[in-house]
Amino acid sequence: MNIQENVLLAPFTTFRIGGAARFFVRAQNVVDVELAMRFAHEKKLSVFVLGGGSNILISDLGFNGLVIKNEIRGIAEEAVGDSVRLIAGAGEDWDGFVKYAVEEKGLYGLENLSLIPGTVGATPVQNVGAYGTEAKDTIEWVEVYNSTTKMIEKLIGADCQFAYRDSIFKHERKGNVILRVAFLLKKNGKLSTDYKDVKKYFEERSAEPSLCGVRNAIVEIRTNKLPDVSKIGTAGSFFKNKTILKTEYQKLLEKYPLLPAFPVDETRVKIPTAWILDNVCGYKGLTRGNVGVYQNQALVLVNFGQGTAEEIKSLADEMASCVKEKMDISISPEVEYI
Ligand SMILES: Cc1cc2nc3c(=O)[nH]c(=O)nc-3n(C[C@H](O)[C@H](O)[C@H](O)COP(=O)(O)OP(=O)(O)OC[C@H]3O[C@@H](n4cnc5c(N)ncnc54)[C@H](O)[C@@H]3O)c2cc1C
Repeated sequence: MNIQENVLLAPFTTFRIGGAARFFVRAQNVVDVELAMRFAHEKKLSVFVLGGGSNILISDLGFNGLVIKNEIRGIAEEAVGDSVRLIAGAGEDWDGFVKYAVEEKGLYGLENLSLIPGTVGATPVQNVGAYGTEAKDTIEWVEVYNSTTKMIEKLIGADCQFAYRDSIFKHERKGNVILRVAFLLKKNGKLSTDYKDVKKYFEERSAEPSLCGVRNAIVEIRTNKLPDVSKIGTAGSFFKNKTILKTEYQKLLEKYPLLPAFPVDETRVKIPTAWILDNVCGYKGLTRGNVGVYQNQALVLVNFGQGTAEEIKSLADEMASCVKEKMDISISPEVEYI
């Protein structure tokens, strides 16, 4: 195991922002994880587990501890009745895994989560979601290294406390290292094409959706809507959508009659933060020095090249203040500050 010192973290993130890690190590198997954790324990270091760096904003001052870059690879397969269990190493590239499941194995369940950047191991952390599907819908279990007990443990999906962009791995189990994730995927599943953009895609082409067709549709929709991370620094949606009471929504409608909402349950609705940032605060396409807001999506903050974490944070704070001031709604970041 090669523990390096003073490794610049910006190139390991899609924002391309962040100072150096005091210590940095690549973990390719469980033994690497155990040794890295022992090193951190002996030196009394904080630990940060890094995947593809696509949902984080690392401080310009870097990370004064040990960064473990999870590079555990491998995909195993087990037949389970009319389903297949695919077990993927946490360091597998997420979209490569989705492509494999859909295009090579013909399995249903992950197609709507196509083209999300990052690694398999991070998908349970924020229960990634897109186009009406969430990781929790197919995650059967998550295998972790528990840094407190120093044991390898398996959590079934029901114990992961999955919620909108949330899970146990952001709370009690923060600090656990996810080693492998098992997804239970159907051989003959039902496609989910009700989401507005997906529905429109197939209607416009008068095409019948197929498994690969849905993946292709999602890839095309996302490519047109979101920045290409190989060309522009970003961590995707910077803020979460907001869940509010239906009664609060009715009040907001008096002032903002076009404010959209999606039902959550009997009493609550989810309102799209992007709509507010665009239509109420007018942030879409704004440039502020080296950073700004993406021209096609008001939820997406971008680094034009020389941006700093301070600049991104200051713009994000300003955007949150605008929403608070105009609508009395507190929005919270989806991106994690490190
Ligand atoms: C252009 C773009 C589009 C995006 N679209 C979506 C979207 O549609 N839906 C969505 O939900 N997200 C989206 N994201 C956010 C991001 O891609 C996902 O959250 C992704 O799962 C993060 O993966 P990562 O490997 O890059 O994690 P990182 O950014 O490296 O880490 C994120 C968090 O997970 C933890 N973590 C990572 N790996 C492990 C591990 N093995 N064990 C324990 N903890 C770990 C980290 O410590 C950190 O807390 C988008 C991002 C971008 C840049």
